[in-house]
Amino acid sequence: MADPRRAVPRTDLLLADPRLREATDRLGPDLVKAAVVAAQDRCRAGGVAPDDVADAAVASLPAGAASMRRVLNATGVLVHTNLGRAPLSAAAVEAVRTAAGSTDVELDLATGRRGRRGRGALAALAARVPAAGGVHVVNNGAAALALVTRVLCRDGGSVVIARGELVEIGDGFRIPELMESVGARLREVGTTNRVRLADYAAAVDDDTAFVLKVHPSNFTVRGFTSSVDVRELATLGATVVADIGSGLLAPHHRLPDEPDAATALRAGADLVTASGDKLLGGPQAGLLLGRADLVERLRRDPFARALRVDKLTLAALEATLAGPVPPVPAALARDVAVLRQRAEAVVAGLPAALGAAVVDTRAAVGGGGAPDVVLPSVAVALPEGLALPLRTGEPPVVGRVERGRLLLDLLAVPPEEDGDLADAVRRVAGEPV
Ligand SMILES: *Cc1c(COP(=O)(O)O)cnc(C)c1O
Repeated sequence: MADPRRAVPRTDLLLADPRLREATDRLGPDLVKAAVVAAQDRCRAGGVAPDDVADAAVASLPAGAASMRRVLNATGVLVHTNLGRAPLSAAAVEAVRTAAGSTDVELDLATGRRGRRGRGALAALAARVPAAGGVHVVNNGAAALALVTRVLCRDGGSVVIARGELVEIGDGFRIPELMESVGARLREVGTTNRVRLADYAAAVDDDTAFVLKVHPSNFTVRGFTSSVDVRELATLGATVVADIGSGLLAPHHRLPDEPDAATALRAGADLVTASGDKLLGGPQAGLLLGRADLVERLRRDPFARALRVDKLTLAALEATLAGPVPPVPAALARDVAVLRQRAEAVVAGLPAALGAAVVDTRAAVGGGGAPDVVLPSVAVALPEGLALPLRTGEPPVVGRVERGRLLLDLLAVPPEEDGDLADAVRRVAGEPV
Protein backbone atom coordinates (compact mmCIF):
# COMPACT_ATOMS: atom_id res chain seq x y z
CA MET A 1 0.00 0.00 0.00
CA ALA A 2 1.20 3.52 -0.81
CA ASP A 3 2.28 5.81 2.02
CA PRO A 4 -0.90 7.75 2.85
CA ARG A 5 1.21 10.88 3.55
CA ARG A 6 2.15 10.95 -0.13
CA ALA A 7 -1.48 11.02 -1.13
CA VAL A 8 -2.29 14.04 1.06
CA PRO A 9 -2.51 17.12 -1.22
CA ARG A 10 0.13 19.74 -0.56
CA THR A 11 -0.78 22.88 1.36
CA ASP A 12 0.22 25.28 -1.42
CA LEU A 13 -1.88 23.39 -3.95
CA LEU A 14 -4.88 23.43 -1.65
CA LEU A 15 -4.49 27.14 -0.92
CA ALA A 16 -4.55 27.78 -4.68
CA ASP A 17 -8.14 26.49 -4.80
CA PRO A 18 -10.22 29.55 -5.82
CA ARG A 19 -12.67 29.01 -2.97
CA LEU A 20 -9.86 28.98 -0.42
CA ARG A 21 -8.19 32.00 -2.06
CA GLU A 22 -11.46 33.91 -1.75
CA ALA A 23 -11.77 32.76 1.86
CA THR A 24 -8.25 34.04 2.58
CA ASP A 25 -9.33 37.52 1.48
CA ARG A 26 -12.42 37.32 3.68
CA LEU A 27 -11.08 35.49 6.76
CA GLY A 28 -7.34 36.07 6.67
CA PRO A 29 -4.62 33.48 6.07
CA ASP A 30 -4.48 31.95 9.57
CA LEU A 31 -8.07 30.68 9.76
CA VAL A 32 -7.93 29.28 6.22
CA LYS A 33 -4.59 27.60 6.86
CA ALA A 34 -5.98 26.05 10.03
CA ALA A 35 -8.94 24.63 8.08
CA VAL A 36 -6.57 23.24 5.43
CA VAL A 37 -4.26 21.65 8.01
CA ALA A 38 -7.23 20.08 9.81
CA ALA A 39 -8.54 18.63 6.53
CA GLN A 40 -5.07 17.26 5.69
CA ASP A 41 -4.93 15.63 9.12
CA ARG A 42 -8.28 13.98 8.49
CA CYS A 43 -7.00 12.71 5.14
CA ARG A 44 -3.88 11.32 6.80
CA ALA A 45 -6.07 9.55 9.33
CA GLY A 46 -8.06 8.02 6.48
CA GLY A 47 -11.26 9.98 7.16
CA VAL A 48 -11.18 12.02 3.94
CA ALA A 49 -10.14 10.90 0.45
CA PRO A 50 -7.22 12.89 -1.06
CA ASP A 51 -9.50 14.28 -3.78
CA ASP A 52 -11.94 15.57 -1.18
CA VAL A 53 -9.48 17.46 1.05
CA ALA A 54 -10.15 20.86 -0.54
CA ASP A 55 -13.91 20.33 -0.20
CA ALA A 56 -13.47 19.31 3.44
CA ALA A 57 -11.40 22.42 4.16
CA VAL A 58 -14.00 24.67 2.49
CA ALA A 59 -16.81 23.01 4.42
CA SER A 60 -15.07 23.56 7.75
CA LEU A 61 -14.29 27.27 7.21
CA PRO A 62 -15.73 29.52 9.89
CA ALA A 63 -18.50 31.91 8.81
CA GLY A 64 -16.50 34.96 9.83
CA ALA A 65 -13.16 36.09 11.21
CA ALA A 66 -14.63 36.38 14.73
CA SER A 67 -15.96 33.32 16.51
CA MET A 68 -19.13 34.86 17.99
CA ARG A 69 -22.21 33.69 16.14
CA ARG A 70 -25.70 35.01 15.66
CA VAL A 71 -28.10 33.10 17.91
CA LEU A 72 -31.91 33.05 17.81
CA ASN A 73 -33.08 33.81 21.35
CA ALA A 74 -36.15 31.61 21.83
CA THR A 75 -35.60 31.34 25.59
CA GLY A 76 -38.43 33.66 26.55
CA VAL A 77 -35.90 35.72 28.52
CA LEU A 78 -35.80 39.20 27.00
CA VAL A 79 -32.49 40.36 28.42
CA HIS A 80 -30.39 37.19 28.46
CA THR A 81 -26.90 37.82 29.81
CA ASN A 82 -25.44 34.68 28.21
CA LEU A 83 -26.84 35.77 24.84
CA GLY A 84 -25.35 39.26 25.01
CA ARG A 85 -28.25 41.07 26.70
CA ALA A 86 -30.02 43.53 24.40
CA PRO A 87 -29.85 42.91 20.65
CA LEU A 88 -29.30 46.23 18.85
CA SER A 89 -31.86 47.83 16.57
CA ALA A 90 -31.14 47.86 12.83
CA ALA A 91 -30.55 51.60 13.14
CA ALA A 92 -27.96 51.04 15.88
CA VAL A 93 -26.23 48.34 13.81
CA GLU A 94 -26.09 50.76 10.88
CA ALA A 95 -24.64 53.46 13.14
CA VAL A 96 -21.96 51.03 14.35
CA ARG A 97 -21.08 50.17 10.78
CA THR A 98 -20.67 53.85 9.91
CA ALA A 99 -18.66 54.65 13.03
CA ALA A 100 -16.39 51.66 12.47
CA GLY A 101 -14.35 53.61 9.93
CA SER A 102 -12.76 56.99 10.45
CA THR A 103 -15.44 59.20 11.94
CA ASP A 104 -15.95 62.67 13.42
CA VAL A 105 -16.35 61.33 16.97
CA GLU A 106 -14.06 64.06 18.33
CA LEU A 107 -13.82 66.52 15.48
CA ASP A 108 -16.05 69.44 14.59
CA LEU A 109 -15.99 69.24 10.81
CA ALA A 110 -17.24 72.83 10.39
CA THR A 111 -14.43 74.45 12.37
CA GLY A 112 -11.80 71.77 12.00
CA ARG A 113 -11.31 71.87 15.77
CA ARG A 114 -11.63 69.22 18.37
CA GLY A 115 -15.29 68.48 19.13
CA ARG A 116 -16.79 67.08 22.31
CA ARG A 117 -16.50 63.31 22.18
CA GLY A 118 -19.83 61.56 21.86
CA ARG A 119 -21.82 64.80 21.78
CA GLY A 120 -24.57 63.20 19.68
CA ALA A 121 -25.13 60.35 22.13
CA LEU A 122 -25.00 62.68 25.13
CA ALA A 123 -27.47 65.09 23.54
CA ALA A 124 -29.81 62.19 22.72
CA LEU A 125 -29.65 60.97 26.32
CA ALA A 126 -30.26 64.46 27.70
CA ALA A 127 -33.21 64.91 25.33
CA ARG A 128 -34.81 61.70 26.57
CA VAL A 129 -34.42 62.70 30.24
CA PRO A 130 -35.06 66.43 30.57
CA ALA A 131 -34.94 66.11 34.38
CA ALA A 132 -31.18 65.45 34.16
CA GLY A 133 -29.00 68.55 34.48
CA GLY A 134 -26.03 66.65 33.09
CA VAL A 135 -25.33 63.26 31.48
CA HIS A 136 -22.27 61.12 30.94
CA VAL A 137 -21.63 57.64 29.52
CA VAL A 138 -19.08 55.04 30.64
CA ASN A 139 -18.40 51.39 29.91
CA ASN A 140 -21.19 49.71 31.86
CA GLY A 141 -23.41 50.06 34.90
CA ALA A 142 -20.67 48.82 37.21
CA ALA A 143 -18.25 51.40 35.81
CA ALA A 144 -20.80 54.16 36.38
CA LEU A 145 -21.11 53.17 40.02
CA ALA A 146 -17.34 52.79 40.36
CA LEU A 147 -16.78 56.29 38.98
CA VAL A 148 -19.35 57.86 41.28
CA THR A 149 -17.87 56.03 44.26
CA ARG A 150 -14.26 56.79 43.40
CA VAL A 151 -14.91 60.50 42.92
CA LEU A 152 -17.33 61.13 45.78
CA CYS A 153 -15.30 59.06 48.25
CA ARG A 154 -11.94 60.49 47.22
CA ASP A 155 -11.58 62.35 50.51
CA GLY A 156 -12.35 59.27 52.55
CA GLY A 157 -16.09 59.57 53.10
CA SER A 158 -18.37 56.59 53.60
CA VAL A 159 -21.39 55.32 51.71
CA VAL A 160 -24.63 54.66 53.56
CA ILE A 161 -26.52 51.69 52.10
CA ALA A 162 -29.34 49.40 53.23
CA ARG A 163 -28.34 45.81 54.07
CA GLY A 164 -31.14 44.54 51.83
CA GLU A 165 -29.55 46.32 48.87
CA LEU A 166 -26.10 44.69 49.04
CA VAL A 167 -26.66 43.03 45.69
CA GLU A 168 -24.71 40.44 43.74
CA ILE A 169 -25.11 41.41 40.07
CA GLY A 170 -24.06 38.07 38.57
CA ASP A 171 -21.06 35.84 37.91
CA GLY A 172 -19.96 36.40 41.51
CA PHE A 173 -19.69 40.20 41.23
CA ARG A 174 -21.07 42.09 44.20
CA ILE A 175 -21.87 45.77 44.35
CA PRO A 176 -20.47 46.26 47.89
CA GLU A 177 -17.17 44.62 46.89
CA LEU A 178 -17.02 46.69 43.72
CA MET A 179 -17.41 49.86 45.77
CA GLU A 180 -14.83 48.83 48.35
CA SER A 181 -12.42 48.05 45.52
CA VAL A 182 -12.46 51.72 44.54
CA GLY A 183 -11.98 53.00 48.05
CA ALA A 184 -15.42 53.22 49.64
CA ARG A 185 -16.16 52.41 53.24
CA LEU A 186 -19.71 51.10 53.52
CA ARG A 187 -22.00 51.98 56.37
CA GLU A 188 -24.75 49.38 56.31
CA VAL A 189 -28.12 50.22 57.79
CA GLY A 190 -31.26 48.23 58.54
CA THR A 191 -31.66 44.46 58.25
CA THR A 192 -32.00 42.10 55.30
CA ASN A 193 -35.74 42.62 55.10
CA ARG A 194 -36.39 46.01 56.66
CA VAL A 195 -34.91 49.46 56.76
CA ARG A 196 -36.47 52.76 57.86
CA LEU A 197 -35.69 56.39 57.22
CA ALA A 198 -34.60 56.66 60.87
CA ASP A 199 -31.91 54.02 60.25
CA TYR A 200 -30.46 56.16 57.50
CA ALA A 201 -30.83 59.35 59.54
CA ALA A 202 -28.86 57.81 62.40
CA ALA A 203 -26.04 56.84 60.06
CA VAL A 204 -25.72 60.02 57.99
CA ASP A 205 -23.11 62.40 59.39
CA ASP A 206 -20.25 64.67 58.28
CA ASP A 207 -18.33 61.61 57.13
CA THR A 208 -21.05 60.56 54.66
CA ALA A 209 -19.99 60.87 51.01
CA PHE A 210 -23.39 59.77 49.72
CA VAL A 211 -26.42 57.62 50.39
CA LEU A 212 -26.81 54.84 47.83
CA LYS A 213 -30.11 53.30 46.78
CA VAL A 214 -29.61 50.11 44.77
CA HIS A 215 -32.45 48.49 42.87
CA PRO A 216 -32.43 44.73 43.55
CA SER A 217 -32.96 44.00 39.87
CA ASN A 218 -32.55 40.23 39.95
CA PHE A 219 -34.51 39.19 43.07
CA THR A 220 -37.40 40.24 45.29
CA VAL A 221 -37.87 39.93 49.02
CA ARG A 222 -41.45 39.27 50.05
CA GLY A 223 -43.30 39.28 53.34
CA PHE A 224 -42.37 41.47 56.31
CA THR A 225 -40.37 44.03 54.41
CA SER A 226 -39.87 47.77 54.17
CA SER A 227 -37.51 50.00 52.27
CA VAL A 228 -37.02 53.73 51.90
CA ASP A 229 -37.60 55.36 48.54
CA VAL A 230 -35.54 58.09 46.90
CA ARG A 231 -38.03 60.82 47.80
CA GLU A 232 -37.57 60.10 51.52
CA LEU A 233 -33.80 59.66 51.22
CA ALA A 234 -33.60 63.09 49.62
CA THR A 235 -34.87 64.64 52.86
CA LEU A 236 -31.71 63.51 54.71
CA GLY A 237 -29.60 66.36 53.34
CA ALA A 238 -26.88 64.04 52.01
CA THR A 239 -26.05 63.39 48.34
CA VAL A 240 -28.35 60.63 47.08
CA VAL A 241 -27.24 58.26 44.32
CA ALA A 242 -29.75 55.81 42.81
CA ASP A 243 -28.47 52.76 40.95
CA ILE A 244 -31.61 51.85 39.02
CA GLY A 245 -29.90 49.09 37.02
CA SER A 246 -32.26 48.40 34.15
CA GLY A 247 -31.92 51.67 32.23
CA LEU A 248 -35.60 52.55 31.98
CA LEU A 249 -35.57 56.28 31.31
CA ALA A 250 -39.26 56.84 32.06
CA PRO A 251 -41.97 54.70 33.73
CA HIS A 252 -43.14 51.63 31.79
CA HIS A 253 -46.76 50.50 32.19
CA ARG A 254 -45.89 46.79 32.01
CA LEU A 255 -43.18 47.14 34.66
CA PRO A 256 -44.83 49.18 37.41
CA ASP A 257 -42.21 48.33 40.06
CA GLU A 258 -39.18 48.98 37.90
CA PRO A 259 -37.47 52.28 38.78
CA ASP A 260 -36.72 54.77 36.02
CA ALA A 261 -34.27 57.62 35.67
CA ALA A 262 -36.75 60.49 35.26
CA THR A 263 -38.78 59.52 38.32
CA ALA A 264 -35.67 59.02 40.48
CA LEU A 265 -34.31 62.43 39.49
CA ARG A 266 -37.62 64.18 40.07
CA ALA A 267 -37.84 62.46 43.46
CA GLY A 268 -34.57 64.13 44.41
CA ALA A 269 -31.74 61.78 43.43
CA ASP A 270 -28.57 63.78 42.79
CA LEU A 271 -27.21 61.08 40.47
CA VAL A 272 -28.69 58.06 38.74
CA THR A 273 -26.64 55.18 37.32
CA ALA A 274 -27.97 52.56 34.88
CA SER A 275 -26.98 50.05 32.22
CA GLY A 276 -27.40 50.68 28.50
CA ASP A 277 -27.96 47.07 27.43
CA LYS A 278 -30.87 46.01 29.61
CA LEU A 279 -34.36 47.49 29.20
CA LEU A 280 -33.10 50.50 27.26
CA GLY A 281 -32.18 48.00 24.55
CA GLY A 282 -28.84 49.50 23.53
CA PRO A 283 -25.15 48.63 23.64
CA GLN A 284 -23.25 47.79 26.81
CA ALA A 285 -22.82 51.16 28.49
CA GLY A 286 -23.14 52.85 31.87
CA LEU A 287 -25.44 55.86 31.96
CA LEU A 288 -24.87 58.65 34.47
CA LEU A 289 -27.55 61.30 34.84
CA GLY A 290 -28.08 64.03 37.39
CA ARG A 291 -26.90 67.30 38.84
CA ALA A 292 -24.83 69.19 36.28
CA ASP A 293 -22.01 70.06 38.71
CA LEU A 294 -21.64 66.47 39.92
CA VAL A 295 -21.72 65.01 36.41
CA GLU A 296 -19.07 67.50 35.31
CA ARG A 297 -16.90 66.52 38.28
CA LEU A 298 -17.24 62.85 37.31
CA ARG A 299 -16.50 63.58 33.67
CA ARG A 300 -13.33 65.55 34.45
CA ASP A 301 -11.95 63.05 36.97
CA PRO A 302 -8.78 61.20 35.85
CA PHE A 303 -10.48 57.86 36.58
CA ALA A 304 -13.19 58.66 33.98
CA ARG A 305 -10.64 58.16 31.23
CA ALA A 306 -10.18 54.53 32.23
CA LEU A 307 -13.92 53.94 31.84
CA ARG A 308 -14.31 55.77 28.53
CA VAL A 309 -16.59 54.23 25.89
CA ASP A 310 -15.48 53.74 22.34
CA LYS A 311 -16.98 55.26 19.21
CA LEU A 312 -18.95 52.10 18.38
CA THR A 313 -20.78 52.29 21.71
CA LEU A 314 -21.48 55.99 21.28
CA ALA A 315 -22.88 55.40 17.80
CA ALA A 316 -25.09 52.52 18.88
CA LEU A 317 -26.28 54.37 21.97
CA GLU A 318 -27.25 57.48 20.04
CA ALA A 319 -29.23 55.44 17.48
CA THR A 320 -30.88 53.52 20.33
CA LEU A 321 -31.95 56.73 22.03
CA ALA A 322 -32.89 58.81 19.00
CA GLY A 323 -33.91 56.12 16.49
CA PRO A 324 -36.71 53.57 16.15
CA VAL A 325 -37.84 51.41 19.08
CA PRO A 326 -35.10 48.79 19.74
CA PRO A 327 -35.86 45.06 19.99
CA VAL A 328 -36.10 44.81 23.81
CA PRO A 329 -38.70 47.55 24.31
CA ALA A 330 -40.46 46.32 21.16
CA ALA A 331 -40.68 42.83 22.64
CA LEU A 332 -42.03 44.27 25.92
CA ALA A 333 -44.89 45.81 23.97
CA ARG A 334 -45.80 42.61 22.09
CA ASP A 335 -49.39 41.43 22.09
CA VAL A 336 -50.06 37.77 22.99
CA ALA A 337 -52.64 37.40 20.21
CA VAL A 338 -50.02 38.44 17.66
CA LEU A 339 -47.47 36.07 19.21
CA ARG A 340 -50.02 33.25 18.92
CA GLN A 341 -50.59 33.97 15.23
CA ARG A 342 -46.84 33.92 14.64
CA ALA A 343 -46.47 30.60 16.49
CA GLU A 344 -49.35 29.10 14.49
CA ALA A 345 -47.69 30.20 11.25
CA VAL A 346 -44.40 28.60 12.32
CA VAL A 347 -46.11 25.34 13.32
CA ALA A 348 -48.07 25.24 10.04
CA GLY A 349 -44.77 25.19 8.17
CA LEU A 350 -43.31 22.25 10.13
CA PRO A 351 -43.65 18.55 9.25
CA ALA A 352 -46.66 17.08 11.08
CA ALA A 353 -44.52 14.17 12.29
CA LEU A 354 -42.70 16.53 14.66
CA GLY A 355 -45.86 16.99 16.72
CA ALA A 356 -45.18 20.70 17.13
CA ALA A 357 -47.81 22.58 19.12
CA VAL A 358 -48.60 26.17 20.06
CA VAL A 359 -48.55 26.67 23.84
CA ASP A 360 -49.04 29.62 26.19
CA THR A 361 -45.96 30.43 28.26
CA ARG A 362 -44.69 32.75 30.95
CA ALA A 363 -41.74 34.74 29.70
CA ALA A 364 -39.49 37.02 31.76
CA VAL A 365 -37.49 40.21 31.48
CA GLY A 366 -34.40 38.43 32.80
CA GLY A 367 -31.40 39.56 34.83
CA GLY A 368 -31.93 43.01 33.38
CA GLY A 369 -34.77 43.85 35.72
CA ALA A 370 -38.34 43.28 36.85
CA PRO A 371 -37.64 39.94 38.59
CA ASP A 372 -41.30 39.46 39.58
CA VAL A 373 -42.94 40.30 36.30
CA VAL A 374 -44.42 37.46 34.24
CA LEU A 375 -44.79 38.38 30.59
CA PRO A 376 -47.56 36.32 28.95
CA SER A 377 -46.11 34.77 25.82
CA VAL A 378 -46.50 31.96 23.29
CA ALA A 379 -44.10 29.22 22.24
CA VAL A 380 -43.75 26.46 19.71
CA ALA A 381 -43.44 23.22 21.71
CA LEU A 382 -41.22 20.51 20.25
CA PRO A 383 -39.75 17.19 21.39
CA GLU A 384 -37.06 17.78 24.03
CA GLY A 385 -34.52 15.85 21.96
CA LEU A 386 -34.33 18.71 19.46
CA ALA A 387 -32.78 21.09 22.03
CA LEU A 388 -29.18 20.05 21.35
CA PRO A 389 -29.35 19.83 17.54
CA LEU A 390 -31.09 23.22 17.40
CA ARG A 391 -28.52 24.79 19.72
CA THR A 392 -25.65 23.48 17.62
CA GLY A 393 -27.34 24.14 14.25
CA GLU A 394 -26.92 27.10 11.92
CA PRO A 395 -28.10 29.54 13.06
CA PRO A 396 -28.11 28.21 16.62
CA VAL A 397 -31.57 28.34 18.22
CA VAL A 398 -31.70 28.45 22.03
CA GLY A 399 -35.03 27.59 23.61
CA ARG A 400 -35.85 26.32 27.06
CA VAL A 401 -36.77 22.84 28.23
CA GLU A 402 -39.82 22.68 30.44
CA ARG A 403 -41.57 19.52 31.62
CA GLY A 404 -40.06 17.29 28.99
CA ARG A 405 -40.69 19.63 26.05
CA LEU A 406 -38.53 22.10 24.20
CA LEU A 407 -40.26 25.49 24.12
CA LEU A 408 -39.27 27.97 21.45
CA ASP A 409 -40.71 31.13 23.02
CA LEU A 410 -41.39 33.87 20.49
CA LEU A 411 -41.38 36.91 22.80
CA ALA A 412 -37.68 37.68 22.35
CA VAL A 413 -37.64 36.60 18.69
CA PRO A 414 -38.13 39.55 16.31
CA PRO A 415 -40.97 38.70 13.86
CA GLU A 416 -38.59 38.96 10.91
CA GLU A 417 -36.62 36.00 12.33
CA ASP A 418 -39.61 33.61 12.39
CA GLY A 419 -38.63 32.28 8.97
CA ASP A 420 -35.09 31.52 10.11
CA LEU A 421 -36.48 29.81 13.20
CA ALA A 422 -38.81 27.60 11.16
CA ASP A 423 -36.01 26.79 8.70
CA ALA A 424 -33.71 25.79 11.57
CA VAL A 425 -36.35 23.41 12.96
CA ARG A 426 -37.03 21.90 9.52
CA ARG A 427 -33.30 21.40 9.04
CA VAL A 428 -32.81 19.46 12.28
CA ALA A 429 -35.95 17.46 11.45
CA GLY A 430 -34.19 16.37 8.25
CA GLU A 431 -36.55 18.31 5.96
CA PRO A 432 -35.37 20.25 2.93
CA VAL A 433 -35.35 24.00 3.64
C1 LIG B 1 -27.10 45.21 36.02
C2 LIG B 1 -26.90 46.05 37.24
C3 LIG B 1 -25.65 46.59 37.54
C4 LIG B 1 -24.44 46.31 36.70
O1 LIG B 1 -24.55 46.90 35.45
P1 LIG B 1 -23.61 46.35 34.26
O2 LIG B 1 -24.05 47.18 33.10
O3 LIG B 1 -23.91 44.90 34.11
O4 LIG B 1 -22.21 46.60 34.66
C5 LIG B 1 -25.53 47.36 38.65
N1 LIG B 1 -26.59 47.61 39.45
C6 LIG B 1 -27.81 47.12 39.18
C7 LIG B 1 -28.94 47.43 40.10
C8 LIG B 1 -28.01 46.31 38.07
O5 LIG B 1 -29.22 45.81 37.80
